[in-house]
Amino acid sequence: MTISLSLVEARATGDSSADASGSPAVVEMPAEELQRWFVQRGEPSWRAHQLRRHLFQRGTTDYAAMTDLPLALRQQLQQQLPLFATTLVQHRSAPDGTHKLVLRLRDGHLIECVLIQEQDRATACISTQVGCGMGCVFCASGLAGVVRNLTAAEMVEQLLRLRACARRGRLTHIVVMGMGEPLANLQQLLEALRIACDPRQGLGISQRHVTISTVGLPARIRQLADSGHHYHLAVSLHAPNDSLRNRIVPTNRKIGIAAILSAADYFFQRTGRQVTYEYVLLGGLNDTAACARELSQLLAGRKAHVNLIPWNDVPGLPYLRPDSRAIERMIRTLRQAGISVKVRKRKGAQIDAACGQLRRQLISTPPSPGSPTVSPALPDFPQPIDPQGDIIPVTPSALRPLSSMPPVAPQSEPSDPLTDAAAATAR
Ligand code: SAH
Repeated sequence: MTISLSLVEARATGDSSADASGSPAVVEMPAEELQRWFVQRGEPSWRAHQLRRHLFQRGTTDYAAMTDLPLALRQQLQQQLPLFATTLVQHRSAPDGTHKLVLRLRDGHLIECVLIQEQDRATACISTQVGCGMGCVFCASGLAGVVRNLTAAEMVEQLLRLRACARRGRLTHIVVMGMGEPLANLQQLLEALRIACDPRQGLGISQRHVTISTVGLPARIRQLADSGHHYHLAVSLHAPNDSLRNRIVPTNRKIGIAAILSAADYFFQRTGRQVTYEYVLLGGLNDTAACARELSQLLAGRKAHVNLIPWNDVPGLPYLRPDSRAIERMIRTLRQAGISVKVRKRKGAQIDAACGQLRRQLISTPPSPGSPTVSPALPDFPQPIDPQGDIIPVTPSALRPLSSMPPVAPQSEPSDPLTDAAAATAR
């Protein structure tokens, strides 16, 4: 079957994006600063409200479409005040309605975000960091460590740009499952989500439609539970015991499953919201009958939901997708223990929609002449330890694939109905 793939190399010109000069963009400016901008140019301060309403509430991403602003002012804005702080480097879309954007930040780094569309849902999957410092061995985002945290504005901007791609021009859900560890950048994330969920001056998304996925940072999980928000929590477990999890998720060596489960239990008690456990299935490694039994024992008695995610292969990594029997066995074993379980569907695989994949490709492929420049701005080392605990940096050696893994088998598209076809995932 031929897959039609639309790939747009976006150009900075004509896009209301920031230039390298660093003048602030509307998305980055607090309301008062924007008011001052207008007043200093002899305009009434309420122009700031008008402009912010266009950007955040109505989804207008182009000055030309803001026709209730005088033409001369729109031209002035176009020249002097970029709407966005990032530049769109690449826009890929798939026939199933999935869109993937690669954005270049002011400092040249690249981030990705994805829009997943189903009948009545438009879900934005956003990144919270450039790269990731958690070092999960199967994941493309963390292969070169973390560069820096994103600002709240850089996160909001992902939402605004994805909303502009949505069929109905609005987002219904947010999953914080892109590049990075969201709870390692909690303050900026909460600020971004405040704007996303503000019904009057923001994007008006329901807090209950927001899911934050974490590798499992207990202190931050408790902080989130105490924050009074209604966001959902997803914990990336990926193994039923510490010895296996230490190998798959290196940050586990300093944390341990017991502390994570206890923080997740606290989250449930405090908020009443069921915690989702994500479990990436790596063929032959964590999808065995023994793992299935151990996982069901670990979670039995908890009001937990398990999201099984068949591994999306990342070129160069020596893992295998699970076979259909292993997936079915995992589902059966968990259900027999009374645990609710779903297999995450795939979507956008043909546009490398798994976060970190496309950026990685762009960084390793030099841009062709005439195409927008892509900065290979990646450091060698991940972030330093956060003094507030929980955030464990991973040394490059920990980023190496597991040595005991079987050799890479030729990968083909799965023929398993559970993981195939209509399936959709942010990963
Ligand atoms: N740092 C956060 C967000 C990561 S992305 C966390 O660990 O939860 C969200 C989920 O996708 C995580 O469960 C992550 O482990 C998973 N993931 C990453 N790469 C993947 C891949 N190649 N295939 C399948 N799932 C993947």
